Amino acid sequence: MTEGVGMAVAGWVVVFVVGFGVGSLVRVVVFRYAVPAGAPPRRECVGCGEVVVAAGGVVRPLSVRGRCRWCGVRVGAAPWVAEVVTGLGFVGAPAVAAPVWTAVVWWWLVPFAVASALVDVSVRRLPDRLVGVAGVGLVVILAGVAVVQGRPGAFARAAAAGVVVGVVHLAMAAVGGMGMGDVKLAVVVGVGLGWAGWSCVLVGTGAAFVLAALWVAVALVTGGPGARVPFGPFLIAGACVGLAAGGA
Ligand SMILES: [Zn+2]
Repeated sequence: MTEGVGMAVAGWVVVFVVGFGVGSLVRVVVFRYAVPAGAPPRRECVGCGEVVVAAGGVVRPLSVRGRCRWCGVRVGAAPWVAEVVTGLGFVGAPAVAAPVWTAVVWWWLVPFAVASALVDVSVRRLPDRLVGVAGVGLVVILAGVAVVQGRPGAFARAAAAGVVVGVVHLAMAAVGGMGMGDVKLAVVVGVGLGWAGWSCVLVGTGAAFVLAALWVAVALVTGGPGARVPFGPFLIAGACVGLAAGGA
């Protein structure tokens, strides 16, 4: 019994360490894409010009302290956030993944979710590259699973949910108050939640709006910044709530 608990804890620690390591790549991705709209993805430190992402995609890791290794200027995500949140996301994935092998799907999505949320918080936009790669990868993985496990129904439901959630958010973008980056992310979230079940879709997308509304309300009361909140992080947080609560 105790031995079993020890093994489980050891497993979690290993998964967290792997997630923490992937998080250091997330830090580089945030550094690269947290640039104003229209600007090319960043390669060099803004302080000293030291190359972080070389041509050909070779990456020099950034410090977890959120400062340039060479000149000490603040770059990219806040200290420890990318690494710790990705690590926790990796540990949490099996808890929301039912059956447990679908943790692979969420492990694929966690780094993109953390990177997208951090970029959105930083520059109020969701890079197409991040959302696109996450979405295409998700569809490929789910299609493979649907074939291997003979679950065409789940795949069809995921696709349908992606369309429905996308159309709903597109309508809200047309009214205003939501960017096209949010709509694209909503499609990916819809596909992921749709695979898990329609109840997850309902709870997850509803939770995104409830969380965003709460955030704005608190911001209004406390006088903090809240009028123009990025919606991406709420979409992602809502999806986590949907997966944890909806449990199809
Ligand atoms: Zn520097």
